[in-house]
Amino acid sequence: MNEFDIIERYFRFPPRRPGVELAGGDDAAIMAPAPGERLVVTTDILAAGRHFPADGDPAAIAARCLRCNISDLVAMGAQPRWFTLAISLPAADADWLAAFSRGLAAECEHWQIDLIGGDTTKGELSIAIQMLGTLGPDDSYLARSGARPGDVVLVTGSLGDAVAWLDLKDEAGLEAEALDYLYRRFWYPQPPLAFVISASSLISAACDISDGLAADLGHICKSSGVGARINAAELPLSAVLQGRDEGALRRWALAGGDDYEICLTAAPEDVDRLTELAAKSGTRLTQVGEIVPGSAVSCYDAAGKPLTLPQSGYRHF
Ligand code: ADP
Ligand code: MG
Repeated sequence: MNEFDIIERYFRFPPRRPGVELAGGDDAAIMAPAPGERLVVTTDILAAGRHFPADGDPAAIAARCLRCNISDLVAMGAQPRWFTLAISLPAADADWLAAFSRGLAAECEHWQIDLIGGDTTKGELSIAIQMLGTLGPDDSYLARSGARPGDVVLVTGSLGDAVAWLDLKDEAGLEAEALDYLYRRFWYPQPPLAFVISASSLISAACDISDGLAADLGHICKSSGVGARINAAELPLSAVLQGRDEGALRRWALAGGDDYEICLTAAPEDVDRLTELAAKSGTRLTQVGEIVPGSAVSCYDAAGKPLTLPQSGYRHF
């Protein structure tokens, strides 16, 4: 199998959704967004051994790579539409490629997105996706810079599951069901697309949680010129993590990262409406703190005692 066989067999998906004029097989793809639509573009590289275990299920690897990118568009309030796939592969392994391709196809269906092109080379396993989304003519985007003192801080989903899976997967004694739940949280994160799209006009600032809540809320604070307080007792944890060591829980939930949930801020009077919209889309939504004047993220326990934030945010260099 040469490079072109690989592309033809595994990466050539006929586009199914509107807006694609030409995709796959020419020198570049052509998209025709509807009049007034604006393009929102993001890209993330995921390297085997660094962002995911290299021996992972290829279909799960496909899902995780796409969902990390989708998460960035969700954090902007945009609708994901199209993506390119630049992949380097150590070998032309037909079984691996078939499973990866099936995983990509399933994700395209699930998220209603189209693969429109890419690049394929030999090298260590690394996957770079560029995801394009759209905002309607009248939609405003969600910036990190819109938080104001007095706003509340909310997060979707539960925190820390993905990184807890990495820490716990080789531990003896964890029930199969719990392990399976954490496995899915790592490989199949669920950026809350429907909720954010429906609630966009009520959100003052948003950021996806890829580096851990403390670091990502820190990005909102820096962009907005404000500080934030997190109430550690309010951090949403999944049932399977309840009862574990407090220190580990706090580390996973605040500094673990890889959640691909959304941290958002909103005016207190909009919280009831946000809660209704979250319930409608089956999204867990939890108030975890508030925006305050200042510039730092601080964290308190249930008694109001300040807690030291765990070392936050993954640093590549
Ligand atoms: P070029 O010589 O212009 O770099 P390529 O040989 O890399 O073109 O790619 C040929 C066609 O196959 C292009 O349309 C490209 O978008 C598509 N393609 C290559 N790799 C992938 C991939 N991994 N996924 C989807 N499409 C791909
Ligand atoms: Mg190329």
